[in-house]
Amino acid sequence: MTDAQCACGALRLTFSEPPQLTALCHCLACQRRTGAPFSANAFYASDCVEVSGRSTEFIRVAESGRSVRMHFCPTCGSTVFWKAEAAPSWIGVAVGAFADPAFAPPSLSVFEQSKHSWVTFDETMEHLQGLPGG
Ligand SMILES: [Zn+2]
Ligand SMILES: [Zn+2]
Repeated sequence: MTDAQCACGALRLTFSEPPQLTALCHCLACQRRTGAPFSANAFYASDCVEVSGRSTEFIRVAESGRSVRMHFCPTCGSTVFWKAEAAPSWIGVAVGAFADPAFAPPSLSVFEQSKHSWVTFDETMEHLQGLPGG
């Protein structure tokens, strides 16, 4: 399985299992975090992920009041992974950190309420205005 790493390579993740879910997120916080119009996120069971290298934490409090701890490389600034208080057994990983064009496509697209209008996808994924159940 492909490793995920930051732009300079100092922060690296290896995986023993494939992701449980891959999703796009169009929320404004992801837009600011990534600098891109939407984020692509792969979610893994946390016990299948091994982290090597130092990361700095940025804690963001979501609208729900729960925190998300974003881990970025202190040297190059890439946010490679994060842990959400709401889902403690999962680790989210930036799909771009794999630099793998063959990475499995997303099955879900969330927060389409703030999606840029020119961003369009085929209909093979589920589209939500907000979060599942919300
Ligand atoms: Zn780096
Ligand atoms: Zn988001």
